[in-house]
Amino acid sequence: MKAAVYQGKHRFEVREAPAPTPGPNQVVMKTTYSGICGTDVHGILYDVVAAGSVLGHEYAGVISAVGKGVKKWKEGDRVAGAAGGTPPEGMVRGFFTPRYNFRTMGWQSIPPAFSGYAEYVLMDEWMPAAVPKGVPDVAACMVEPMAAAMHSVRRSKMKKGDTVAVFGAGPLGLFAMQVAKAWGASKVIVSEPAPARAKAAKAVGADVVIDPTKTNAVEEMVKLTGGEGPHVVIEAAGAKSTLQQAMEAVRREGRVVLLAIPWEPVPVLPADWCTRDAELTTTFAFDPEEWLECFDLIQRGKVKVEPLLGADSFISLEQLGATFQRLFKPSNEIKMVVKF
Ligand SMILES: [Zn+2]
Repeated sequence: MKAAVYQGKHRFEVREAPAPTPGPNQVVMKTTYSGICGTDVHGILYDVVAAGSVLGHEYAGVISAVGKGVKKWKEGDRVAGAAGGTPPEGMVRGFFTPRYNFRTMGWQSIPPAFSGYAEYVLMDEWMPAAVPKGVPDVAACMVEPMAAAMHSVRRSKMKKGDTVAVFGAGPLGLFAMQVAKAWGASKVIVSEPAPARAKAAKAVGADVVIDPTKTNAVEEMVKLTGGEGPHVVIEAAGAKSTLQQAMEAVRREGRVVLLAIPWEPVPVLPADWCTRDAELTTTFAFDPEEWLECFDLIQRGKVKVEPLLGADSFISLEQLGATFQRLFKPSNEIKMVVKF
């Protein structure tokens, strides 16, 4: 099979490798789509990914082989991963040890499962999620980031009728705002400078999209929420200024969730917002039930994935290295997906 192997120093090489064979209680998936995650982009940009790794953890495909003792799956079943299934008792959510720090500790592909930039992926039986009828593979490969966005909205304790502001209309921001809408947000305000992303925010139902290069996003968010500020602010941009802006925008006793993962220090000036009794919370990964909820929202048309995809979104495995190079800089593209 073909696999895009990281070589270190921002370089990938597509190599022939033996296709995995499933051991007991393992399955192999033939990949159809594999999304590029912003976390992978950072890992490669800062070169903390171990050379020899095959990354990729947002994928969909078809079960092509099952190992001894596998009860849940048969050849031909449609699945998505990584990790939509329910982990065995005692396993930490998201696979990582509780004090894991992927910036300072680095990472490598964690076989099985975290190796979606390859034609076949080996997984433990419990790992993948079943893709329901009516959800195409290309949508299924985006359920991993969507579940992470859903988890951030859950962490925000958003209530029906709350006003929600989202900084950044990349994939995570676009999914978070759709989940907020589906769960009854009364108004969703988005701040996004890139035209294609702003357009996508409109297409997925944002009530107001602010261009922060032309308008003061904080002032506008406060104005649009009756002078109080949004109940919930999701920081999904990870830009230098946006965590501070999120804290400035939120209303008294409101909640801010840091969904983006800035890899450079971001300045905050607490004197500007600490009088607000606001909560700031982090969020990471998802719970397995959230995958089911995501599939359900897609099936019911409450979350749309098409506006995240353009003609340039689909690449071959051979184009992966060049695509990462492009994604190191802020781009107008929204979601990039390897099509097998
Ligand atoms: Zn991801």
